[in-house]
Amino acid sequence: MSRFLVKRHQSLVPYTPGEQPQDKTYIKLNTNELPFPPSPIAQRLARLEASSLNLYSDPDQKILRETAAQVFAIDKDEIVFTNGSDEALNYAVMAYCDETTGLVFPDVTYSFYEVIADLNKVPCKTIPVKDDLSVDVGDYKELHRTIFLANPNAPSGLALKNEEIEVILKTNPDNIVVIDEAYGDFNDETCIPLIKKYDNLMIIRTFSKSYGMAGGRLGYVIADKKLIADINRLRNSGNPYCVDRMAMMAGVGALLDRSYLRSCIDKIKAIRQHSADRLRQLGFEVTDSAANFLFAKHPSYPGKDLYLDLKENGILVRHFDRPRLNDFIRISIGSMEQMQVFFDTLQQLLEVHHD
Ligand code: PMP
Repeated sequence: MSRFLVKRHQSLVPYTPGEQPQDKTYIKLNTNELPFPPSPIAQRLARLEASSLNLYSDPDQKILRETAAQVFAIDKDEIVFTNGSDEALNYAVMAYCDETTGLVFPDVTYSFYEVIADLNKVPCKTIPVKDDLSVDVGDYKELHRTIFLANPNAPSGLALKNEEIEVILKTNPDNIVVIDEAYGDFNDETCIPLIKKYDNLMIIRTFSKSYGMAGGRLGYVIADKKLIADINRLRNSGNPYCVDRMAMMAGVGALLDRSYLRSCIDKIKAIRQHSADRLRQLGFEVTDSAANFLFAKHPSYPGKDLYLDLKENGILVRHFDRPRLNDFIRISIGSMEQMQVFFDTLQQLLEVHHD
């Protein structure tokens, strides 16, 4: 830290992203990326756009919003795109939280929420999840704060049903409820249709997971027009060109290629089911994940040891060194081939561990 950093940022504890080591080639099952490339149409449109990079991108995101509006059966003024969904989450905190209206979220969830609350000097409160790591809807009634809920949640992968989310929306009519659907495409339900019914619902989604575009940094917000206008007010005051030309056109291509998206999601879901079954056969306790990762713990192999031993063998998974979570490892769903190597290695490690 330099001696020039202003006082209010001196205590900031930045978000710790999943490792992206460059020392050797790992099988990366640690940051919930898609193990497949983006749609060929997305790739082609992005490549074509490269020759226009001398010109600024469209701050109004017209082509992308119009394409998305058709795909999601919403109005083009009910959506806006951001530089990854992390940027959208930050705008939501800036827009709907202050010293009086703080932020509330489960104690076990995406750790970035706490970081952006701190960045914006917003008081935040956490609500403990139940013993099985699920969210108890009854804890979220009449909170008089802005609520952030990842659905499916991370790192548990557990999802609330829309009818449960509606209870939260109805009992907090004067506060914004942000549903972070970063993993929503791997779940059986989305809240998108609910925006017509609730003016306090904001859905934040991303191209980083199901569309295989984590490196393209494209997120989006779906909500009532007035809420989208709020986000645009902040976005146009901070970073109006937040979606670059190549990401914009890759987004259009990815949205149009519905069959590619469907096939990626179907593959991930099938591998998720197969992997969860195998982990259970190997003695693991596995949460019922509706996302593109599994959260699992072994009765006698501590999470940290397992994470380190897998890393030693060229496989990266995520371990959270926090109470209640440190027995677990989070395994992103890889391709069939990657999961085969993962299970071969895991089996060997378990054999050694039992000896
Ligand atoms: N929400 C959740 C729950 C996440 O796990 C992530 C990925 N780390 C994000 C949002 C942000 O994703 P991105 O900024 O890549 O869109």
